Amino acid sequence: MATSPLRAVETPPAAVPFVDLRPSHEPLRRALERALAHVVAGNAFSNGPEVAAFESEFAEACGARLCVGVSSGHDALKLALRALGLGPGDEVVIPAQTFVATAEAAIEAGARPVLVDVREVDRTLDPDAAAAAIGPRTRALVPVHLHGQMADMRALRALADRHGLALVEDACQAHGASRDGLRAGAAGDAAAFSFYPTKNLGALGDAGAVTTSGDVVAEGCRALREHGQASKHRHLALGYTARLDTLQAAVLRVKLPHLPGWNAARAQAAAFYAEALAGVGDLALPPVAPGSEHAWHLYVVETAEPERLRRFLGERGIGTGRHYPTPLHLLPALANLGYPAGAFPVAERLAARCVSLPLFPGIAAAQLEAVAAAVRAFFDHGR
Ligand SMILES: *Cc1c(COP(=O)(O)O)cnc(C)c1O
Repeated sequence: MATSPLRAVETPPAAVPFVDLRPSHEPLRRALERALAHVVAGNAFSNGPEVAAFESEFAEACGARLCVGVSSGHDALKLALRALGLGPGDEVVIPAQTFVATAEAAIEAGARPVLVDVREVDRTLDPDAAAAAIGPRTRALVPVHLHGQMADMRALRALADRHGLALVEDACQAHGASRDGLRAGAAGDAAAFSFYPTKNLGALGDAGAVTTSGDVVAEGCRALREHGQASKHRHLALGYTARLDTLQAAVLRVKLPHLPGWNAARAQAAAFYAEALAGVGDLALPPVAPGSEHAWHLYVVETAEPERLRRFLGERGIGTGRHYPTPLHLLPALANLGYPAGAFPVAERLAARCVSLPLFPGIAAAQLEAVAAAVRAFFDHGR
């Protein structure tokens, strides 16, 4: 029996994944396959010309003099800290709201992370709170360019110089960001990048890099990524197996020229949300500090009921995330640092309220509209 032509057709809501890499990869599929085939044919899978070429291309893209490819963002941080001479007995100032890897890397380098609150204006390390946390053992500041927005590197540079501290950027979320004329990767003594697949520049697996303009830091990282070898069989310190894969370097060389375009697409999507979600419910939209060119790794809104919003969106096929629902000092893994709940109110508030909306290069206008409509529906009648 034919159904009535008048019956409304129930179309399922268009699914909007939290991240979709296909729009970025599809146009490059041939080039990526060629690059991988080239490595296979070249028969060199460790270091080699692809790694060196990517290193110089990425250094240039950041405005840094040098780049050392490594195996992950976590390793980039760890190697940079060790190459700067940090070790047991030293303290490293890091923000309380970041991915756990920032703290892990400091601890694995032998240092003790000293946590500091973030500021509401940019969600990054508060320079005044950092100043107050500096003690006789402090050796480095590690600001995190959270969600793609750079920390206030001018203030932090002045602070680091005043106290003779190293300044290391956790730039794992900020490829291509800038602030006050300083570029991510060239604003500290060293910077750590991750090329985890979903980062603004992502490999097809794990990869990372240290950028720096210091020869000593670069040489230190080059040695540490290969078991501390300064040259063949000359192990000056114990290191790691932490090289950048040649295959990933070849992939990253194909993708790097597209980073500015992808970041522009992210900024466009963010601008859409900023307009479509202004004044909706109790939402607080991501702050952009004056002089900051945000890389929009994530679009993180705040609301009093993040899990209810996520559930409502999830039921409509819309993927979301949380970055990050627990600040470092409240993670069981870092309880031994000894900070009580309430120690970092801005970080705790952000963690309790954050929801990350879908944002990726190639997200369709209809997908953005669907997200905005669903968020509005939640606040209109969804609760
Ligand atoms: C992704 C990320 C890291 C770690 O990078 P991996 O490549 O996953 O090791 C470190 N810090 C921040 C802020 C990150 O977002």
